Amino acid sequence: MSHNTNNTIYDISNVQQVLINLLLEGIKMLPLNTTISVKASEWEQCLVRINKLCSTKWNKNHKHIKANLVFGETRKCHRAGKYKSQHQTRIAQKDTKTCSCTAALQIKQYISNRNVVTFCRTRARVYHVPGEREEVRTLPLPSEAIRIIEEQLKSGSSCRSIRISVLRQIDDWGVGVRKPNYEEIYNIMRKICQ
Ligand SMILES: [Zn+2]
Repeated sequence: MSHNTNNTIYDISNVQQVLINLLLEGIKMLPLNTTISVKASEWEQCLVRINKLCSTKWNKNHKHIKANLVFGETRKCHRAGKYKSQHQTRIAQKDTKTCSCTAALQIKQYISNRNVVTFCRTRARVYHVPGEREEVRTLPLPSEAIRIIEEQLKSGSSCRSIRISVLRQIDDWGVGVRKPNYEEIYNIMRKICQ
């Protein structure tokens, strides 16, 4: 397996430059088997940005405890795990379907270089294409959607006008981002108001 190291230190302002284009328009991907470094103080923000642009989510898998590491962990694709078919999956619901994807992301911070945190995607994504309509349903709703709804609720607008206004605001988020539909917005509002 070939392995590359990219010497640039990325931060939140330019981390998108490391991503490569996927076939699906508007969706990006971390290069395979390439170690990239990001500013340690911004690594979590950078990962959030990468996940948004790549239409992906990584779940924590296991931690590496090694003498040369400040910390290290492997995360696996949110669609890892044995394929399970789901009966009665409603279009609007978050789809938790797993598809045996093997993609993994290694996150490490070395004691010898505490200024950066490294990311490396180590295995190819299989059996699914990030950003496809089917795929987007498996992602959690972005926190941005919830924030917009909360702000609207504070302003005291009616339920109906909140829902219309939220739908309008999320319309231009682009492909690959899971957008709540009318019914989901209503459910989120109910949860917040309880
Ligand atoms: Zn995957």
